[in-house]
Amino acid sequence: MSTALRLAERGADVVLLEAAYCGAGASSRNAGQLGSVPGGDPQILRLMHPRRFEGMVRLAERAVDFTEKQLGSKGIDCHYEPTGNVAAAVTPGQLKIAKQKAAIFAGAGADVRYVEGADLGLPGAFPGGMLEPAGGVLDPGRFALGLRSALLGTTARVFEGSPVSSVEPTSVGVVVATSLGHVLADRVVLAANAWAKGFTIAPKRAAAPVFVTMVETAPVDGERLAATGWSSRSGIATQHQIMESYRLTRRNTIVTGVRQLQAARGRVAPRTPDQGIVGEIGSAFRSRFPSLRDVPIDRAWGGWIAMTPSWLPVVGEVHPRVSYLVACNGHGLAQAPYLGTLLADRLLGERSHEDLAAVWRERPRFTPALMFNGPVMAMCRLDRWLDRRALGASSRRFSSREPGRASRGGAARRAPPPWSARPRGRARGRQGAGRPSGPAGRGRPRPC
Ligand SMILES: Cc1cc2nc3c(=O)[nH]c(=O)nc-3n(C[C@H](O)[C@H](O)[C@H](O)COP(=O)(O)OP(=O)(O)OC[C@H]3O[C@@H](n4cnc5c(N)ncnc54)[C@H](O)[C@@H]3O)c2cc1C
Repeated sequence: MSTALRLAERGADVVLLEAAYCGAGASSRNAGQLGSVPGGDPQILRLMHPRRFEGMVRLAERAVDFTEKQLGSKGIDCHYEPTGNVAAAVTPGQLKIAKQKAAIFAGAGADVRYVEGADLGLPGAFPGGMLEPAGGVLDPGRFALGLRSALLGTTARVFEGSPVSSVEPTSVGVVVATSLGHVLADRVVLAANAWAKGFTIAPKRAAAPVFVTMVETAPVDGERLAATGWSSRSGIATQHQIMESYRLTRRNTIVTGVRQLQAARGRVAPRTPDQGIVGEIGSAFRSRFPSLRDVPIDRAWGGWIAMTPSWLPVVGEVHPRVSYLVACNGHGLAQAPYLGTLLADRLLGERSHEDLAAVWRERPRFTPALMFNGPVMAMCRLDRWLDRRALGASSRRFSSREPGRASRGGAARRAPPPWSARPRGRARGRQGAGRPSGPAGRGRPRPC
């Protein structure tokens, strides 16, 4: 949408073909955290991409600035709160990770700092973390709708419900085919994110589609919310290998999610959230917010993210007339629109902006993703085990203050170590892990 918007605003003749409706993908389904640092482990990013690292840090920060300006100039009311975000720790190990991350990002020029205790304005389950003061939280659905109406206000011709079936360069232009007709274009931008691999022309192995799940609680009474200590209202992302995120909405509901990644087997198709994962997210919520454990989960949804092996967004050309911009690795809320806009400027003949150059690929060649291989999954299991152990310890402390309550959410149960917790059958292990229990599990979450 942002590429089309910029091109149209600058006078180009633009056609946008969208399979469903503008914003139907990750753009409207995400966690709503406008974060100002790149995704991924900065230590690995710096090691693997020493020449790109600082550029990537700058890009992430400028993307937030760009998006904030975009909200103002387009008059998009998406309940944006410039609260900043916190890469928060929930275990002593994660505190160390957060401290280390803050040092690396700050060394590369990012405006971040390590903070502990009440200064963070977070609930007690998050004793410290890396504060990113820039950015904040917003309602991604309203943001996507705002961009869509800005686009519809331009001369761009937008065809929703028009899945592209093929993109073929010819001697007279690029033929972009749908079942109802085709467009002959001078230049084409592939921006189908997790669906990009469905196009023969898209770069192979650029990104792996991964489905992630979000849930939203019922509204929480203001006084009870204040009692949690979440005075900053900052967005929260934990330091697990596979994180948990928390965001407060204007209605004082809490949006939380992820904890598990699901690979696409075959085509990337619409999915409803796995109830086992929804239950696991609900259990984690009740563990981090024990005083809100009776607040029901009202709804659940999910979306497809495109993950790159390098954790960097990928932008480049597969043909002199066909550019691609896919995969912002779960950090594209600001980065995708920003890079899309910079790509539009490049298509209009400008020199690549340095932020686009920071992630630009000279050749569309990529190594396979390590996402679901054995060592990575083993690290995730270890990560969860350490977390459950820490949760057990804090719940035991909690239950000694409030007898008989902590065990209801299941958090105080002693966690088996990961080597004994290996699921015997995949489905059984996953589904059984975190069924909703206790008061919050009573109402069945509503997929939407
Ligand atoms: C659950 C979740 C939580 C996230 N949380 C955050 C967060 O808190 N912060 C953050 O920065 N990022 C987050 N992200 C990532 C962020 O949402 C994405 O990186 C970003 O929205 C990607 O935008 P996009 O326009 O590239 O892709 P998308 O929004 O996925 O758009 C791709 C579009 O392509 C369309 N399409 C697919 N196939 C075809 C076809 N054949 N023809 C035509 N159109 C097609 C789809 O319908 C879709 O509308 C999250 C993502 C998810 C799923």
